[in-house]
This record gives sequence, structure tokens and C-alpha cells, in this order.
Amino acid sequence: MSQLEPKDTTVAVIGAGIAGLSCAAQLTAPGFEVQLFEKSRGVSGRMSTRNTDDWSADHGAQYFTARDPLFIEEVSRWIDSDVAALWNPRLKVFKANQWQDSIPSENRYVGTPGMNSPGKYLAKNLSIELNQTIDQINRQNGKWLLRSIESGDIEMQFDWLVLAIPAPQALALMQSIDPKLEKIAANANMLACWTVMASFTQGPKVPFDAAFINDEMISWVSRNNSKPKRSGQEIWTIHANPKWSQEWVELDKEKAAKLILDCAKRVGLDCDKAKIAIHRWRYASGHITQASGFSLNKDLQLGLCGDWLNGGRVEGAWLSGRKLASQIQNI
Ligand SMILES: Cc1cc2nc3c(=O)[nH]c(=O)nc-3n(C[C@H](O)[C@H](O)[C@H](O)COP(=O)(O)OP(=O)(O)OC[C@H]3O[C@@H](n4cnc5c(N)ncnc54)[C@H](O)[C@@H]3O)c2cc1C
Repeated sequence: MSQLEPKDTTVAVIGAGIAGLSCAAQLTAPGFEVQLFEKSRGVSGRMSTRNTDDWSADHGAQYFTARDPLFIEEVSRWIDSDVAALWNPRLKVFKANQWQDSIPSENRYVGTPGMNSPGKYLAKNLSIELNQTIDQINRQNGKWLLRSIESGDIEMQFDWLVLAIPAPQALALMQSIDPKLEKIAANANMLACWTVMASFTQGPKVPFDAAFINDEMISWVSRNNSKPKRSGQEIWTIHANPKWSQEWVELDKEKAAKLILDCAKRVGLDCDKAKIAIHRWRYASGHITQASGFSLNKDLQLGLCGDWLNGGRVEGAWLSGRKLASQIQNI
């Protein structure tokens, strides 16, 4: 197999979530010239932490597990670097109107001090342009040309382009570029998630730190301060379930918050005395059924990675970026 000469090869990675960061890190190490573009003002995508003066809370991914040896190794590096740790919450399940203990079958990890810490750690040695929403990609004379909403045409041209963004956003960018990749992206049915954050001066007295809620419109509640290295006011994160969130994705924020809090109260988490913030994730979860890990068009030098190509979740996203990068390296 022939190998690309890294130092002569430029790669644009769109999206600085954990998949884009892992892909960029793996390509940067041997010397590829990698430039990341991220539409938000920080890195880490859905592995995110909302910060205010009084509290901070993980309002996207809540924890991650590690099964693949490559990811287990990576998580060990994160732990050694103090950006992740084990989380052992008092965990319950609410099902058929009854509470049960949840017996942990595997380790759960969190970023420390926030869920975005592993992403920030990976970003340290990478070249990233923040606040750049790429809204057009074109291949001309064997190079990729990009345009962003904020800056217009991007000066640099690229040999390779990696889209490390949720499927619907990748699909919108790829229009008329590669029907096969478009079809793959169109098959991922990504669903929304309404998330409420409730901050307390005096937290509710409940016998759990986190709970899976079944058969209700909410699916998860968790006490952020039960995670390692958290400080500040007590704050709970409440997720509505994907089906309900998708059905009511356009609901007014205040109405959504009220319905979610009513449901939380019904199952025992009373947030009447809390200050409330709400966030809507438009593309929170979902993946293609035949997980391919990543997708690649070698002729166009165009790659796709992200959780939706690899079973969803943090581990799948990290592995997806890593595997796409290894594939590009070996071409
Ligand atoms: C509410 C919620 C709860 C979750 N809970 C868990 C959990 O408990 N455990 C778990 O393992 N996983 C969980 N997940 C899923 C997990 O967060 C994701 O699988 C993982 O973070 C996805 O990473 P990614 O890099 O593929 O995508 P993302 O994190 O979405 O990264 C994509 C990045 O691309 C950027 N972007 C998009 N379009 C453009 C553009 N045009 N130009 C520039 N930048 C762009 C975005 O801003 C984003 O930063 C949860 C997700 C949500 C939303």
C-alpha cells in the first residue's frame, strides 16, 4: 500500500467535536497539515459543559464507556492527564412507576472538571478556527475550496476534506457532490433532545445521583455535582426522551421546560425552587443501522466521520475519527 507524504498534504476537518478532534490529532501526529473549522466558540461539540457565574453543568453527553482497546488506551491517557475520571453515581432506574437500583455492568467515565475537558485537551496541539460555520464546499482542480458564513471564501485550499458533523449537516453541505455519501448521510435519522438544567441553593433530597427514567417523557436525570471535580451550586440535568423531543422540537422553550419539570416532579425530582435554563439539541442522537465506522470517497478525497457512522455515543465518535484518519494515512 502506498502512503501519502504527510508534510505535503493539507486536510480540512469541519467540526471540532470528539470525532473531528480525534481525526485531526491522528493526522497531525505524522505531519499532515490539518486545519479544523468549528462553528461554535469552543470545541467538543455535544460533549459539552454549560458555564455560568454560579454553576456549570454537562448538558450534552453525560458520561462515556470504553470497550474498544484503542479507546480504553485513550481514556487512560485522559485520566493520567487529569481530564477524565471514573464516575460512580448512586444510580437508579424508574420503571413502571417503581424505583429500582441499577447494577453497573461497566465503568462510567466523565470529563473533569467538565465533559468538554477531553476535547479541550485534544485541541491543545491542533490548529482550529472557531466561529467558522462552513456553508459551502467545492472541489476544483483537485483541491477543496471552502466558504464560511462568517468570513466568506477561505484562502487556504485543501487536498482532503473531512466532514465530522452530524449527518443532516453533512448532507446539507454535500449536495450534488457525492450521491453515495449523500445517501449514507440521508439514512441517519438523528433525533433532538430537550435538556433542562435546574440549579439549587439547597438541592433536593433524593436517594440517587442519576437515574434512567423509562416510559415517561423524560429519560434521564443527573446531579452534576456528584461527578468528580465539580464545584459551585448544586445543579441537575434533565433530558427529555428522543421521541418526545423530536415530536416537540419546535416547541417554545418555556413551554418545553414546564412540561419537562412537571414530569420530573411526578417522578420525585421537585425543581420548584430551582433556577432553570433550557437547551435544545437539534441533532442529539441517532446513527445508521449498518455502522461502517466512517465513509470515504478516495477519488474525491472526501471523508465522513462522527458518532452517527459508528453506533452513536462518545466512544463511537472518537473511534470513527481515528479510523478515518488511519485510512487516509494509508492511501
Ligand atoms: C443530550 C445528549 C446526551 C448524550 N448522552 C450521551 C452519553 O451519556 N454517553 C455517550 O457516550 N454519548 C452521549 N451523547 C452523544 C455524544 O455526545 C455524541 O455521540 C458525541 O459527542 C458526538 O461527537 P461528534 O464529534 O460525532 O459530533 P459533535 O459533537 O456533534 O461535533 C460536531 C461539531 O461540528 C460542528 N459543526 C456542525 N456543522 C458545522 C459547520 N457547518 N461548520 C463548522 N462546524 C460545524 C458542531 O458545532 C460540533 O462542534 C449525548 C448527546 C446529547 C446531545
